[in-house]
Amino acid sequence: MARLPHACSCPRDSRMKRSGYWKFALLGVAWLLAVPPAKAACNSPVAMQILGSGGPIAEGSRAGSSALLWLDGKAVLLIDAGSGAFVRYGEAGARFEDHLAIAITHFHADHAADLDAILNSGGFSDRTADLPVIGPVGSDYFPGMRDHLRALFDPQAGAYRYLSGYLDGSEGKVRLLPVEASPDGATLVFEDVARQVKVTAVPVEHGVVPALAYLVEIRGRTIVFAGDQNAMSQGFVDALAGRRPDILVAHNVIPEGEGQPRGLHRPPGSIGEMAAAIDPKLLVLSHNMQRALVRQQEGEAAIRQHYKGPMVVADDLACFAL
Ligand SMILES: [Zn+2]
Repeated sequence: MARLPHACSCPRDSRMKRSGYWKFALLGVAWLLAVPPAKAACNSPVAMQILGSGGPIAEGSRAGSSALLWLDGKAVLLIDAGSGAFVRYGEAGARFEDHLAIAITHFHADHAADLDAILNSGGFSDRTADLPVIGPVGSDYFPGMRDHLRALFDPQAGAYRYLSGYLDGSEGKVRLLPVEASPDGATLVFEDVARQVKVTAVPVEHGVVPALAYLVEIRGRTIVFAGDQNAMSQGFVDALAGRRPDILVAHNVIPEGEGQPRGLHRPPGSIGEMAAAIDPKLLVLSHNMQRALVRQQEGEAAIRQHYKGPMVVADDLACFAL
C-alpha cells in the first residue's frame, strides 16, 4: 500500500529533542532581539504603511491588499483588509481603539476578507466610540457596505449573528456606522477637523464591481490609494490631476500583453499614464501578483515610458514616512 507523505518536512519533536531543540529555541530568541518591530519604521508623525502587498492568489508571503495611515504613533485609518491583513495588522502594532475610520475600496475578497477578523479582534479592545466603515454602494452583483455588514452581523441571517451588537452598539460592541460613497463622483466620506484628517472617495472602473479609490489628506500630506481599476478610469485621473500627492499607491496586478484581465486592471503602461497625469512625489506599487513580478523589468520599462518620478515596489509592512 502506498504511504501518505509526511505533512511537512520539519524534524519530528523527538528527533529535535535529541539533536538540538534548544539550539533552535536560542536562535529564535536571538532573531527576535536582533530584528526591530516593523512598527519602528513608522515612528514618523505621519506615515503610510502597506500591510498586505499581494493577493488574491496565495503564492508566497504577501497578504492581500491593506494599508494603514499612522498619525502620531496611532493607526488612524485602515484602507482595505484583504486576506492575510489580520496577521500583518497585529505585526504592525495597530490598535482598534485608535481608528478614526475603516475604508474598503470594493468587495473582492482580497480586499475585504479580513475585515470581519479585524472587527472581531477589535471586540476585545477598550474602544467604545462608534466607528465609521466606508465602502461603495451596492449593485446587482455586489453588496454595498451597508448590506455587507448586514450579511456579517444581522441578528437573524448574518454569518456571524452572535456579533450582531456591531450593528447597534449593543452587547458591549462598538457600533459600526456604514458610509456608502456616491458612484457618480468624488464624495467627502470622512473628516476630523481637529486631527486634520479627511477622506474623499472617487469612483473607479473595475469591471462590474462597484469600486472606489481614496484620497486621504492627513495633516497637510496627501496619499492616493488608486485601488483596483482599469484604464477606463479617466474620471479618477481627471479628479486628481494636478494635486501632486505625496504618494500614489497603484496596483501591479497584470503584466503587459494580450490575455490579461484588462477589464479589471491597468497594465503597467496604463499605470505609467495615470502616474504621469497625477504626478505623485512617490509611486508605490502594491497588490504585486507573481504574474506581474516575474515580468517586473518589462513592466517598469512600460511605466517609465510615461512616468519619470520615484517609484518603489512595496513588500508587506513597508513603511513610508511623510
Ligand atoms: Zn478587485
